Amino acid sequence: MAQDRSDELLGMNRRILRRDFMNSALLASGGTLLGTLTPRQLVAEEEWTGYSGMGDYAGSNGNTYEIVHAGHQIRDNVFTAGAHEAADTGETFDCVVVGGGISGLAAALAFQKRNPKLSCLVLENHPVFGGEAKRNEFIIDGQRIGAPQGSDHFGTPKDRTFTAEYYERIGIDPSKFEYQNWGSDSPEIPVGHSFEFVQNPYGFFFGAKFGQNPGLWLIDPWTRKLEGAPLPPAMRGELLKYQALHSDPANRIVPSPELDRITMETLMMQRFGLSQETIRTIFTPGPGDPYGIGPDVLSAYCWGGGVMNRGLGTGSHAFPGGNDGIARHIVKTLIPSAISGDRTLPGVCLGHIDFGALDRPGQLARIRLHATVVGVCHEGDPTKSSTVAVTYTRGGKPYRLKARAVVLAGGSWTTKHIVLDLPDAQREAYGQFYRSPCMIANIALRNWRFLYKLGISGGYWFEGLGCFAAIRKLPLFAAAAKTMGPDSPVVLTLKVTFCHAGLPVEEQQTRGRAEILATPFREYERKIREQLTEMFGATGFDARRDVAGIILNRWGHAYGTPTPGFFYGKDGKPAPRDVLRNAPFGRIAFANTDLSGDPSHVTSITEAERAASQLLNSALRT
Ligand SMILES: Cc1cc2nc3c(=O)[nH]c(=O)nc-3n(C[C@H](O)[C@H](O)[C@H](O)COP(=O)(O)OP(=O)(O)OC[C@H]3O[C@@H](n4cnc5c(N)ncnc54)[C@H](O)[C@@H]3O)c2cc1C
Repeated sequence: MAQDRSDELLGMNRRILRRDFMNSALLASGGTLLGTLTPRQLVAEEEWTGYSGMGDYAGSNGNTYEIVHAGHQIRDNVFTAGAHEAADTGETFDCVVVGGGISGLAAALAFQKRNPKLSCLVLENHPVFGGEAKRNEFIIDGQRIGAPQGSDHFGTPKDRTFTAEYYERIGIDPSKFEYQNWGSDSPEIPVGHSFEFVQNPYGFFFGAKFGQNPGLWLIDPWTRKLEGAPLPPAMRGELLKYQALHSDPANRIVPSPELDRITMETLMMQRFGLSQETIRTIFTPGPGDPYGIGPDVLSAYCWGGGVMNRGLGTGSHAFPGGNDGIARHIVKTLIPSAISGDRTLPGVCLGHIDFGALDRPGQLARIRLHATVVGVCHEGDPTKSSTVAVTYTRGGKPYRLKARAVVLAGGSWTTKHIVLDLPDAQREAYGQFYRSPCMIANIALRNWRFLYKLGISGGYWFEGLGCFAAIRKLPLFAAAAKTMGPDSPVVLTLKVTFCHAGLPVEEQQTRGRAEILATPFREYERKIREQLTEMFGATGFDARRDVAGIILNRWGHAYGTPTPGFFYGKDGKPAPRDVLRNAPFGRIAFANTDLSGDPSHVTSITEAERAASQLLNSALRT
């Protein structure tokens, strides 16, 4: 009974954008679904996926159930063990790109730019292109509001840099980003443009882990010198010393190969005098957040190595759906008819994807969705062969086609399994790549007055589900309402990483993936409602009234996670990324942001340009 009462208080039985609206759709298409899945699997999928939003991206929130299933089939060699005969599509392309994230799309655009006569096919396993750069869309109280599924913001690049020229090439002008104005009688407070740059002033929440019941918010913690934080005096002292040292430019950490020999945690202990306990209590993931894991396993080079190349220069911007805007602009440039609007910010952002235009026979640039590549192999000796065989599955059936050159842009975790003739050196190199899981929960709110009362638009916490969340202003070219205030509907984006500090990196990631895979939607929904009630109940959050919808984006292999040795190699061996980047293997070249050790759309693009260029200068030269 207590459970029932609590469910009621948390609004678990309220009708929101969750599963409720899926049931009718599911029933309508039940015949088709049951054709491929057993009822038992259907229940499992239904419990797992949850609501996936409106518009182009409905049905594609994070790694879908189908993708997880197909990914495990790759890992288990289901389609390459010889038992399945692939149907030959009869197609031969000049280039095939595996993976339709920003990197794969950028590779296709690079081929098109250098030689518009080349035929190029992108094979992407999800129902929509974009990879981690996709959006969720809600209609909240009549307003269409977007939110990022993962990749979120970009910086305004300096003039005449590669990034500036690239944005121009795909039609993005960062100077055109203007955001919603304040439109409330309540005095204005700062609200950012990106959920990941939590706007100052933000808050730190301390709950039961710090002996606080109810918990307490400390607003603008660093300016207040952590006054009132329920921390042991020694920990508070360490943190204040860290903050003073860290914010002094004289202590800037200069990138050097030595940093790649130690973990970020060791660096923080040596340079800032932090204890391991403080780092693991307050800074996990902390500075490791952009890599999806804590400082205990990351290379210290991630701190000072000039990484985080999300766009140089000042001014960070975000499309309503995050970097889906960048993926969409690349696609619009590659296949103009693929998105209904014109090639302007509102046109590309608000237009609809014409899925039929993506893969038209006869078209030189094509994108084939729902296609999981399970095997890539030169036909004959890689040094002499003139084609590569590519096998992919679609709707559970294997197909085979040919390519003169292939870019593997899907990421280390699948590439190492699907390149069947991958030499030992490259295989060993990929063996040193790790990918951390992450979940982005987008929570549609009818208002955010409970945050406003605290004077914040986002905050951090150190226990329970997730580690930070924020709301944000939307760019005017795509906002349904030109103004916003505490009573406006918004999306609160909450980030969940899976750190188990002290355990080996692989074990932390495996545990995280196991949790992402095994937790039903309803259990996460409950945890989200509990977490928000605990943190904001005192300032008026009512889970029954305020939550309009929830979408979970589960990414099993979200972030490349460079450990010591990743950037410069160890034990006298070359850096693993260099083994893969220095030269193509026959007719196969490697891309994806994870090769850079810097999770960023910019490196997705630069790795793609490099891979395409390598093939244009070798396999595709004649
Ligand atoms: C939560 C989160 C937040 C981020 N925030 C930012 C940010 O704010 N700014 C920023 O610049 N970067 C950010 N990033 C980094 C992000 O990784 C890059 O911006 C970029 O989106 C990565 O693009 P990609 O193409 O390299 O990889 P991905 O986006 O992973 O694309 C690879 C695609 O290939 C598909 N694929 C893999 N294997 C196969 C196969 N065998 N067959 C077919 N398809 C396959 C994958 O499913 C995926 O769709 C963030 C990442 C995460 C996870």
